[in-house]
Amino acid sequence: MDYQKLANILFPHPLKTPEEWEVIYPPRNLPEGAVVTRLAPSPTGFVHLGNLVQGLTSERMAHQSGGVLFLRIEDTDAKREVPGAVEVLIRALAHYHIQFDEGATIEGDSGLYGPYRQRQRKEIYHTYAKKLVEEGKAYPCFATEDELASMHEQQEAEKANYGYYGKWATWRDRPMADIEAELEKGTPWVLRFRSEGSIEHKIKFTDLIKGNLEITENDIDHVLLKSDGIPTYHFAHAVDDHLMRTTHVVRGDEWLSTLPFHVQLFGALGFKLPKYLHIGPLQKMDGDSKRKLSKRKDPEIALTYYQQMGYPVMSVYEYILGVLNSNFEDWRRANPDANADTFAFSPKKMNPAGSLFDEAKLKDTSKNVISRMTAEEVYTLTLEWAEENDPAFATCLKANPEIATSALSIGRGGKKPRKDIAVWSEVKGYMGYLYDEFFVFEEFPLHYSKEDAKKAMLAFADIYSEAYDNSAWFEKVKTVAEGLGYTTDMKAYKSNPDSFPGSVADVSTFLRYAITGKLNSPDLCELMKILGKEKSLSRLARAAAQFPN
Ligand code: GLU
Repeated sequence: MDYQKLANILFPHPLKTPEEWEVIYPPRNLPEGAVVTRLAPSPTGFVHLGNLVQGLTSERMAHQSGGVLFLRIEDTDAKREVPGAVEVLIRALAHYHIQFDEGATIEGDSGLYGPYRQRQRKEIYHTYAKKLVEEGKAYPCFATEDELASMHEQQEAEKANYGYYGKWATWRDRPMADIEAELEKGTPWVLRFRSEGSIEHKIKFTDLIKGNLEITENDIDHVLLKSDGIPTYHFAHAVDDHLMRTTHVVRGDEWLSTLPFHVQLFGALGFKLPKYLHIGPLQKMDGDSKRKLSKRKDPEIALTYYQQMGYPVMSVYEYILGVLNSNFEDWRRANPDANADTFAFSPKKMNPAGSLFDEAKLKDTSKNVISRMTAEEVYTLTLEWAEENDPAFATCLKANPEIATSALSIGRGGKKPRKDIAVWSEVKGYMGYLYDEFFVFEEFPLHYSKEDAKKAMLAFADIYSEAYDNSAWFEKVKTVAEGLGYTTDMKAYKSNPDSFPGSVADVSTFLRYAITGKLNSPDLCELMKILGKEKSLSRLARAAAQFPN
């Protein structure tokens, strides 16, 4: 077979040579050990947690080593593409702290190794496709959909492995005349790889997450170019990651099964194989068993879920870091104020089988993250969230920022900060009672005496002064307790509660109930100061009025 002639027939238009592309995309000038990696999503319009897991892993690998992270858009499957998806993707990743050094951006491409959108790279792929044909490593296949379907049926009947290989690969060794006749007729064709592999052979391979693997060689003549001349994922992966000078490929482990083909392809093209990190799927507990997170069943797989719920970016980010590197939590405890970027991320710590996602743990992480924020940060981020998701609350927050920040400052800072907010949507419950619009009384517990509560509220209103500091304030609460015959000796009360009508703690609860409508709240003395004397007294009176004499 005259492969040169075949290559010229299949690719009649002038193309640059591989050597020319090598000059256009020279090796990167980076220090030894610098990782060049990429995120290569398909623009389907849906940004999922997996994108963040891969993004974070690649980002840490690149930036911890002084390397480069770039964004490549894998838009070879036009059918799956949704308009605007690239922008959605870029914004979501930027929101979650994944900074790209080059690649696709909202304004266009940025960087010397572009274009970074695969549909714009057709000419480059064709250079390498032609080269493979010239070397007898690829051939055109004119098999129709129907022929492939009946091949599949026959393989099923014979219990043979599926795919286009060996005796099934009917176009693999066809004479030039047959090919020319089909081209003449205008029959669509795909370009297939001529595999020299055998399933009798195993290859050894080291994945940076999965460790040492032994994988079966590929014997299938996979498609390199589809009939519209657009490459398959596999071919684009080899050409792009070579020319973009990727050193590490971080991707989902659903690609592990085609890795033997990728190894062959890099070899056939004369490219150095990058290092691979195949990430196991995110899983969750479903009853007693683990299963993969599913787009259909689990809303938490979408990144938008976290924004809607009001998780701070850093909570999701730190939670994912902890899921991927279990030593992150210990590190965080030892370095509560350090920037998460100073944690030494290691792919070796990643679970080869994939990680378990647990929203309850995310909430705990988030409480810790929020407990480290200043009241002003909490205020700003809550307001940002509320503007999108709870406009009425946003209006209150904006109307009186001082009240909100003062309330949020209670118990903040110091060694043992309060950890009671996990998501911005909880802030309204936490301090919404400051605003009359959102004040609601919880159920008043039955075991308390409503009469005593009323007396306590009225008595405290009589003696309250804004000038009290915490201890003077509490002394007055004790005075009220004593007036009711409630004990102020908590020790005695705890050891024998039945011998007292109640304790000073109950009196605090009555006052808290009047002021906040709740049985739990941040420091009440502080809250009363924030509300001011007038409002505090009117709330005490309002609550007292609900109860019988
Ligand atoms: N477009 C592929 C995907 O979304 C990229 C895999 C890779 O990173 O190579 O799964």
